[in-house]
Amino acid sequence: MRIDNIVDLPNKCTGCMACVDNCPKECIHPVVGEDGFVYSRIDNSACVDCGKCYDVCPIEKRKKHSGEQYLYAAYSKDAKERNGGSSGGIFEVLARHFINQGYCICGAAFDGTELKHCIAKNNDGLKTLLKSKYVQSDTKGIYKKIRELLTSGEKVFFCGTPCQVSALINFLPEKLTENLFTADIICHGVPSQKTFNMYIETLEEKHKSRISDFTFRVKDNKYKHAHGYSYNVEKKGKKCTVNGIYTKSSYYNAFKDYTIFRDSCYQCHYATLNRVSDITLGDFWGIEKYDFCGNTDKGVSMVITNTDRGKEVYQLIEKMLISKEFPLEYGVKSNYCLTNSTKKPVNRDKIIRGISEEGYENTAKKYFSESIKYRIYWLIPPMARNLIRKLRR
Ligand SMILES: Cc1cc2nc3c(=O)[nH]c(=O)nc-3n(C[C@H](O)[C@H](O)[C@H](O)COP(=O)(O)OP(=O)(O)OC[C@H]3O[C@@H](n4cnc5c(N)ncnc54)[C@H](O)[C@@H]3O)c2cc1C
Repeated sequence: MRIDNIVDLPNKCTGCMACVDNCPKECIHPVVGEDGFVYSRIDNSACVDCGKCYDVCPIEKRKKHSGEQYLYAAYSKDAKERNGGSSGGIFEVLARHFINQGYCICGAAFDGTELKHCIAKNNDGLKTLLKSKYVQSDTKGIYKKIRELLTSGEKVFFCGTPCQVSALINFLPEKLTENLFTADIICHGVPSQKTFNMYIETLEEKHKSRISDFTFRVKDNKYKHAHGYSYNVEKKGKKCTVNGIYTKSSYYNAFKDYTIFRDSCYQCHYATLNRVSDITLGDFWGIEKYDFCGNTDKGVSMVITNTDRGKEVYQLIEKMLISKEFPLEYGVKSNYCLTNSTKKPVNRDKIIRGISEEGYENTAKKYFSESIKYRIYWLIPPMARNLIRKLRR
């Protein structure tokens, strides 16, 4: 059986690329579809119908977790680690724990502004993996690389979207998973690298300078809110950093409005409590409502241990965290995306077509501009803004 029934349906294929890595004839190739997302294409003339693509597809196959699940609200006691992460910096705490145990760490890192899954073996390499990047990461080749590492006796900690984690688990022979630890993120959808590139081009045009990097979820004193961004530009030969809040970035606005996600994300098979990884990481939105033992200004993570191993590892890192256990239902109540796929906005298809046919800038002007409500909001002095936020909570 082959995976034609998946890859030919944009609302099914997640773009995990495991089928590309698992094809013994190397006859499945990534191609960019009209919607800007990457799909796999089978070269029929070389295909021998072995079914190996089908075996690894996370839409066709999914292994279940074993063990009871426990939910925590947590953040790193180390302020640098907390600020370096998107939520509470738990990924970094886990990764440092595993580096000390001799593990290789695999996560999504920007190479310039292109997002790829790659391997870090030390704390310097780890820095590039930190923070959420709101683009679909390129995972072609990473499954083979991890299999090579595990076969040669290395240990691996992998972090990615649930569909990527599931694809990796399908890809590896069971005996190799003993030295693999996985974390999945609570994910409400990914935009394409192509749309992100088009956005970067508009910034380059605006600043008449090359943009070599982009950071989502910057936390600093000006933007205490968890959705700041920054990038670097060159002005008169000097590097300057541009900072902003998401409402000021057309791309970030579109991401927050759910309008530029991959079609399959709106029917995600993994938005369920039946998680595939050892540990699930997300944001604990609304933690202020609960009796939590820490401050909530700089991000609090939602952590769910899904396996006995996940729970054991969490107990080992817990001394590095401010952490409190809550009933699992609290997680379901406060994080819609934990158990529900994102609802597809009515204008999503029109927007994706618009980006491809009329270009990014024209479409962004029509759909992703900062609303008047927010323009007024940012004119209010920061102290008054904080007060409004507190009152709204
Ligand atoms: C596209 C996307 C959508 C998300 N949506 C939600 C949501 O709706 N609700 C929610 O609670 N949390 C969501 N998250 C997760 C959240 O933003 C944090 O990533 C998570 O809480 C971990 O935070 P941290 O501070 O522990 O570590 P961080 O340092 O922020 O985590 C970094 C790790 O996350 C993984 N990662 C980052 N970007 C990507 C990517 N594009 N693809 C695959 N893996 C990636 C990497 O492996 C990276 O090493 C989303 C993340 C992403 C990337």
